[in-house]
Amino acid sequence: MCLPEENKSCKVRRKQNSSEEMVRLGRLWMSLLPFGFLLFFSSAFIRVPGALAWSKEGHVMTCQIAQALLEPEASEAVYQLLPDYVKGNLSSLCIWPDQIRHWYKYRWTSPLHFIDTPDNACSFQYSRDCHDSHGVEDMCVAGAVKNFTSQLMHYKEGTSDRRYNMTEALLFLSHFMGDIHQPMHVGFTTDEGGNTIELHWFRHKSNLHHVWDREIILTALADYYDKDVSLLLQDIERNYTDGIWSDDITSWKHCNDISQCVNNWAKESIQIACKWGYEGVEAGATLADDYFDSRVPFVMKRIAQGGIRLAMILNKVFADSEERFATAT
Ligand SMILES: [Zn+2]
Repeated sequence: MCLPEENKSCKVRRKQNSSEEMVRLGRLWMSLLPFGFLLFFSSAFIRVPGALAWSKEGHVMTCQIAQALLEPEASEAVYQLLPDYVKGNLSSLCIWPDQIRHWYKYRWTSPLHFIDTPDNACSFQYSRDCHDSHGVEDMCVAGAVKNFTSQLMHYKEGTSDRRYNMTEALLFLSHFMGDIHQPMHVGFTTDEGGNTIELHWFRHKSNLHHVWDREIILTALADYYDKDVSLLLQDIERNYTDGIWSDDITSWKHCNDISQCVNNWAKESIQIACKWGYEGVEAGATLADDYFDSRVPFVMKRIAQGGIRLAMILNKVFADSEERFATAT
């Protein structure tokens, strides 16, 4: 699977040459064509007891995209902050915040993975929506991205500044930049971002949140990439280096005021969640080819945007002073 573009052929990898897959692939291509068109007009993806964020695969790809785009200064800072045993590989720890969120010490981080917005409002307002279930302000994924970005701005003050744990800040920021781009992590309150909407994904039981966290990615991997994440990542990278997204990168990573940027990213997510996540889906439904074919481009685009924007933040916070965020403290 790949995202087609004008005048360029798209290499497609398939597990096998079954006629069923050929039909399915043809439908995927057809469904992607209007999406490419749509891209020109949009500047513009928990909770959840039991649910994670982007799947492991989604977070790994987001962080691998980001790390490949780091400037030398940021690359060195990230290397210095990571524990030795990961040998400089940021992506190997990008799911750490999901693994520790229920530990007693880190229970406070649980609300930081998502945002609950009013049902059917299809909008995000920081002052209205960014709080935990007790109303504590800033306790949402948008607040978390701002907070950990601000903490990393103090990196150059040296290790004597022990107010913050810089390694944890890096891992939290890297993870939450994935979460804020997963559309259903900025979902409706009553259904917990789609977690309580139980349905079938093809033949097995799932829920709407999990479809966007993992099912779509796993189906793409199984059907078109022989379950090899690195091949899927290559296609995503091709799409923003010299493919259909290459003209959009500059606007994706434009950001002078981190507060405004996180608000915009959260708005993008809830709008996709409304229009493409919830739309036409009821509890008990069976989602299959049609849903997969029309939603997979959004999933891949959000992974790309999350990675590119994470790199932008890290390049700014670890850069020389004149390139840093104007308003972050
Ligand atoms: Zn998460």
